[in-house]
Amino acid sequence: MKTLILFTVALSAVVLTGCGTSGSLRDYSDEASVLHRSMVTIDTHADTPIRLLRDDFDPAQWHTPSGDEGKIDFPRMKFGGLDAVFFAAFIAQGPRTQAGNEKAYAMVSAIIDSIHAVVNRNHDVAALAVASADAARIKASGKSAVYIGIENGYALGNDLSLVTKFYDLGVRYITLCHSKDDDICDSSSDTSSVKYDGLSAFGKRVVREMNALGMIVDISHVSDKSFYDVLALSTVPVIASHSCARALCNNPRNMDDAMLKALAENGGVIQVSLVSEFLKTPLVLPLRDSALQALRGKYSGIGHLSAEQRLMMKNERKDINARYPRPLPTVSDVADHIDHCVQVAGIDHVGIGTDFDGGGEVDGCFDVSEMKNITAELLRRGYSHNEIRKIWGGNFLRVFAQVEASAQNRRN
Ligand SMILES: [Zn+2]
Repeated sequence: MKTLILFTVALSAVVLTGCGTSGSLRDYSDEASVLHRSMVTIDTHADTPIRLLRDDFDPAQWHTPSGDEGKIDFPRMKFGGLDAVFFAAFIAQGPRTQAGNEKAYAMVSAIIDSIHAVVNRNHDVAALAVASADAARIKASGKSAVYIGIENGYALGNDLSLVTKFYDLGVRYITLCHSKDDDICDSSSDTSSVKYDGLSAFGKRVVREMNALGMIVDISHVSDKSFYDVLALSTVPVIASHSCARALCNNPRNMDDAMLKALAENGGVIQVSLVSEFLKTPLVLPLRDSALQALRGKYSGIGHLSAEQRLMMKNERKDINARYPRPLPTVSDVADHIDHCVQVAGIDHVGIGTDFDGGGEVDGCFDVSEMKNITAELLRRGYSHNEIRKIWGGNFLRVFAQVEASAQNRRN
């Protein structure tokens, strides 16, 4: 109740002053650093594994965050005060055929192998995490915790037995689909047609199987109807590993207030992402947009890019950014989404899933080394240490532990 009162006071200050903040981020950086040492911090979504497949990316090295050098490595995780991260084994939606499914499974398996290999190679600074309790244990040992998620249920094709197979490889959540419908459900961004009007029959079996195994269901990317179907079916809370609030940025990828309330009722959590187009409706910059579209078209047809081709693409993107700059959203925009989700869903149902290396970057938190700036902004807005602890991992770990316990009870 005390926190509620404090928070109400903080919100009143927003109304009274027209600006709910005082001081600069720097004024709160020491307090943020102390807080990060005492709490467990988790980012529930990063697409870093795309880089792990490359020979020239060593996550044990500190990389410069500019350009195409990636947002996460172990030294920067430490510096930024991030204790645990979910590396997403991502597969883009391809043909839903036997051959397509086999290729997707092979690709995701290779990415998972590469995550294991990277953690093993760096066992002095990192450790694989598979249980909710692992994050705190691994932090206490001074290492970075790496969890594994799968982004896109396409990796399962239409084979239910793969859920167990992936669970045994350490996967602890599956994002049911990506930007297109798969065999599990309709996607929020597939405008071609409504295939299932929510979850398919196979999708329902997948959700039940994940519940039974103790694997978290991730509803980021799914259509609104798919979301409600999942809530009606799942016997445990679910997560949105990287999503924002539709009230602040009207994009079908984001969650509207009714969904946020339903998620809170389910006991789940929305992990706010740092992706520009989901934080703020992008300004229309036709010259920039067409130049970037042409660039994507040019390189997407090539398939696996060589180091030389990647460098060419990077330089061409740099050139476009210099010619047609687009200002990034800021840490304050991220905090606006957190504020809104807290107001609608409650302080127990909000967290952070950056989508670093998948498009996540904002001014003030351009890479993992700047994570404490989010904390500083929340302190500046009047959040208590306990509330920030919940946002930075407490809420997500509660859901994770519930999912584990329910599966454990069924086994007993
Ligand atoms: Zn995503």
